Amino acid sequence: MVSAVADADPSLLDWDTVVEQLGSDPDRGLSVQEAARRLREVGPNEIATVPPVPRWRKFVEQFRDPLVYLLFAAIGISLIVWAVDGAPGWPMDASVIAAIIVVNAGLGYVQQAHAEHAVEALARMSAATATVVRDGVQQRVPTRELVPGDLLVLVEGDTVAADARLLSAATLQVSEARLTGESEPVMKDARTLAAPAALGDRLDMVFNGSAVNQGAGRAVVTATAMATQMGQIVVLLRSVHEERTPLQREIARLGRMLGIAVLSIAVVVIATILLMSGVHTINNVVTALLLGVSLAVAAVPEGLPAIMSVVLALGVRRMSTQNAIVKKLSSVETLGSATVVCSDKTGTLTTGEMTIGRIATPVGEVTVTGAGYHPAGRIERDGVALPEGSDLWRQSALVLGGGCLANDAALQEQDGEWAVQGDPTDAAFLVAEMKIGTGHRRTERFRRMGEIPFTSERKLMSSLESDAHRDGRVTVVTKGAAEVVLSRCTHVHVSHRIEPLDAVQRTQIIADVERLSGDAFRTLAVAYRLLETSTLPEINESLEREMVYCGMVGIIDPPRPEAADAIARARRAGIRVMMITGDHPRTAARIARDLGMTEEVSAVSGLELASLDEEQFRETVRHRSVYARVTPADKQRIVHALHADHQIVAMTGDGVNDAPALKSADIGIAMGRSGTEVAKEASTMILADDNFATIVKAIREGRGIFANIRKFLRYLLSSNIGEVLTVFFGVVLAGVIGLTDVDGTIALPLLATQILWINLLTDSGPALAMGVDPEADDIMSRPPRSTSERIIDGRMWGGFVLTGVVMAVATLLTLDLYLPGGLIAGEESLDNARTAGFTVLVLAQLFNALCARSETGTAFHRFLGNRWLWVAIGVSALLQLAVVHLPFLQRAFSTEALSPIQWLVCLVMASTVLWASEIRKLILRSLDTRKARRPMSNCPADQCRKSLRGPDIRSLIAE
Ligand code: ATP
Repeated sequence: MVSAVADADPSLLDWDTVVEQLGSDPDRGLSVQEAARRLREVGPNEIATVPPVPRWRKFVEQFRDPLVYLLFAAIGISLIVWAVDGAPGWPMDASVIAAIIVVNAGLGYVQQAHAEHAVEALARMSAATATVVRDGVQQRVPTRELVPGDLLVLVEGDTVAADARLLSAATLQVSEARLTGESEPVMKDARTLAAPAALGDRLDMVFNGSAVNQGAGRAVVTATAMATQMGQIVVLLRSVHEERTPLQREIARLGRMLGIAVLSIAVVVIATILLMSGVHTINNVVTALLLGVSLAVAAVPEGLPAIMSVVLALGVRRMSTQNAIVKKLSSVETLGSATVVCSDKTGTLTTGEMTIGRIATPVGEVTVTGAGYHPAGRIERDGVALPEGSDLWRQSALVLGGGCLANDAALQEQDGEWAVQGDPTDAAFLVAEMKIGTGHRRTERFRRMGEIPFTSERKLMSSLESDAHRDGRVTVVTKGAAEVVLSRCTHVHVSHRIEPLDAVQRTQIIADVERLSGDAFRTLAVAYRLLETSTLPEINESLEREMVYCGMVGIIDPPRPEAADAIARARRAGIRVMMITGDHPRTAARIARDLGMTEEVSAVSGLELASLDEEQFRETVRHRSVYARVTPADKQRIVHALHADHQIVAMTGDGVNDAPALKSADIGIAMGRSGTEVAKEASTMILADDNFATIVKAIREGRGIFANIRKFLRYLLSSNIGEVLTVFFGVVLAGVIGLTDVDGTIALPLLATQILWINLLTDSGPALAMGVDPEADDIMSRPPRSTSERIIDGRMWGGFVLTGVVMAVATLLTLDLYLPGGLIAGEESLDNARTAGFTVLVLAQLFNALCARSETGTAFHRFLGNRWLWVAIGVSALLQLAVVHLPFLQRAFSTEALSPIQWLVCLVMASTVLWASEIRKLILRSLDTRKARRPMSNCPADQCRKSLRGPDIRSLIAE
């Protein structure tokens, strides 16, 4: 049944035939049970991308790495030698290396699965939704649950997620660019096509992948998933899984670079060993080769990209619990370097819970009491309830009634709680009308015939009503931005009369708008026009002229309580906050002042912006932070101007026309609640709670994630340098420290298996724990990171080298301490001394983990702050204890038990890493303080930043 329609080309069938064939109902849609049954039958509405990779393949993938190949080669060589030599017993080295490869692959697999899981969960969270009617009830469902026969309700801003045959269309304009390549939107029409047509001309259909630009419609789903036109073309769907962030690419590049460096070092080490010890037996050569290979494997930070993915994925998951749903991993990084946040006002900086507080009419002004959507309150003047039937009462009822006609919202009460369906601005009129109690008269008298929808550009909406008191003739009722409504009016309604609107009245109305806006009220005016026809005229904007002005309301939309604090935090963090709103300049400026955003008395209006040339525009954007009555096109222009000044811009948006601005911003942020599907699709982040404070939290997280990436880089790279230096200088200085074998040849400071063990311990637990380290206290008191800043700067490299050198010196000194001969004469066996050196190196890595948490801050600050790190350190120390004392591990890793005193010595020697790092940090801190005290004129880099970020930031940096 389902496929019959898809085959028959529904664009050529009448819609009722299509509905019937699909077993649906034009009013009630499918039943919930039937929709569930069909979903099981046809599967989810998803365009399949690449087929899923089975788990075993993912595990095998872990072995596909040049370094693992090297290890396999090492195993092969050592097995051949073992076989040729006819050595007794088990091939220990080969087995240990093989075991380490498998454990490493297992860890890699778990990490990858973890990261994928987090990203999948995220994709589910940001999944698109569609409105359908099921069992006669309108509801929003995830688009993946759409099935053939579903009755789709389409409104402006929706994305179409399946192919569907239209049942009705009211000025429905759809953009099908993704499907047909046609950039102009297409006007749709439910009338059946007379003859087969190309995709772009099937006006009675809407297709998966298109977006509703304007108007509304209803349609029955004819095909889902791969059966849709989009599925047949199989376009590449965006996939978060595959995406690599710039930072990930930089890390991968760094890994490759280090890989080459380390491989060269390994070759040098092997050559040095062979040269210095002389080649005696094939066994000597194999040992040297194994050491070189293990060194290369240990020192190349091959685990970096995997750990990086896990850290990003975990960060993204944490952000989602705070209502910031990141759609692209790369925006996590970009968030950390955001320098400007452009936020809209209504619902983001304000609560968006609208209450009409004033009604200003040509016959006087009244106050409406009560707050929120609970319709308790009254209309009063000077604190006294307005007498019912008075002129002012009637005029107020007219304004509210008009606002309720040009209205698409509904109020619902459940258990004493009032909730809004639709636009909160519309809802405010319904609530106020309930307070005055004239709703029933309005519904008895008027019947809606059509609508001219609201758009942010028009700032108006109108309803066409058949008026029972005028024999069904049509009245156009309009509400919208006060000055826009006024510009469409030629008359004014005063008590019972309609009078021409004169200049004095006009001036008075504009003064009222300014006054109410200055008091932070959102002003909306209401007007009407009486037509002499009772048939529906052609619906277009020309109907909204020669109107009769009734009055305006002042809506209270209080600032969010947490917004002022969030703005202050953003400013402390060197981030400039700009308000870009469709509201009145005075309302915008007042709210901005109340929130501590600016001292500006008025906002820059869209009209002013339009009169500026490119240079003036950029200059304005540099200095002014509040923009009002802007259009979505202005938003995009502002983003471009900020980009020209090298700013990293986060921009919020909710409407269809915000999509270009959201796309051009570095971080496009769509509103989760009030945003359209189109805006959500164009954005990289969704605010589940529409709250400005969440953006600041997300920036904080972004910065924290970046800082944590630096922490584990600091840890891994300095540890690796320590290993390389230990082996290199161990071999070069073997004679000096007494590293000789019984036969007089030089002995190796560490064995291949020991190096691999260190790699296994340190690359996993502590490195991962570093990735979830709590943020530093001052993370939001530093200026944003410049995007040109390398992830590892010169200072960090200096730290790596220092730590590496200290590790190597501590390890080699310990070896010398216990070995006979050398600088300090000891009396232990080679295996015992080597076990001590090996243990020092492991413990030094663990001390290094503590140091790596900050570049300049002491390790003792919030010493126990990261419990995962302590778990990782504890587990690593226990494993080292096991490797030193358990007999079978002693055999595998050629270790010997250490005495308690020796353990103590190892601990003290290893701790030098910590003390050396503390001294370095102390010096760096005092250098930083001295630099900060130096006058700004001596600091060209800072000055440069200053001039780039405009006045808000200048004052901050100077602070
Ligand atoms: P922001 O851009 O901060 O979200 P906003 O909601 O005021 O603020 P728009 O949605 O672009 O921005 O609305 C612009 C103007 O249009 C509003 O200030 C208001 O005067 C008018 N307006 C808003 N909603 C409606 C509506 N439902 N009906 C009629 N006019 C409206």
